[in-house]
Amino acid sequence: MTPILLSIATFMSTLSGGFFALKNQKWIKKIMGFTAGVIIGVVAFDLLPEIFKLISANNINSTIPMVALVVGFLVFHISEKLLLMHHAEEKQYGQHHHPQVGVLSAFALSGHSFLDGVGIGLGFQVNTTVGIAVAIAVIGHDFADGLNTVNLMLANKNKNSKAIKLLILDAIAPVLGVLSTRLFHLSTTNLVIYLGFFCGFLLYIGASDILPQAHEDGSTKTIIGLTILGTLFIFIVTRFA
Ligand SMILES: [Zn+2]
Repeated sequence: MTPILLSIATFMSTLSGGFFALKNQKWIKKIMGFTAGVIIGVVAFDLLPEIFKLISANNINSTIPMVALVVGFLVFHISEKLLLMHHAEEKQYGQHHHPQVGVLSAFALSGHSFLDGVGIGLGFQVNTTVGIAVAIAVIGHDFADGLNTVNLMLANKNKNSKAIKLLILDAIAPVLGVLSTRLFHLSTTNLVIYLGFFCGFLLYIGASDILPQAHEDGSTKTIIGLTILGTLFIFIVTRFA
């Protein structure tokens, strides 16, 4: 039951991110600064310690989840940079817009959001603590996912109504992802590999995606302070878990 409830929270988070983007509210950057801190905190104080526990309890080689972590980081780094390279080449042809590029990118984001949901479901297959930790990281950054979906659509000259349709798709994707994990079970070793991969993915999203976005319009002490507060928040929460 809990994974389903948490997936509904991801749904709300994605939607509110999208509507923030449509209304262009001022404190988006502050929320993103805080979220980046939360994600780094979840990886360091919650998921990595859980990996250490699992590998020592089950005698698993520690290199395996660490390779998965680097692969998780690089897969998202490489796919994002390849997309950007394509955008840079497009600029040589002068000012022109492709609404379908916005739609395609929004679909790619929805695929990523589906994986977010799979992440939560598999987290609960490890145990409730891991499931909740993954859900916190996902709910936090899904706000940014919703925001990016709408921004991508509007930047490529799509209508508001179409942007909202893809926003709803992006919001439903993690719910479907959670549900999909009811259909299969992973062995402990595979769960450890998945946890490593998800740590790499979250580190990339936090440090290389959300943090730069938070500082896009200039850095302020408030944003920097909120990032530190985000990491402290998770440090304190995990002391009581
Ligand atoms: Zn996401």
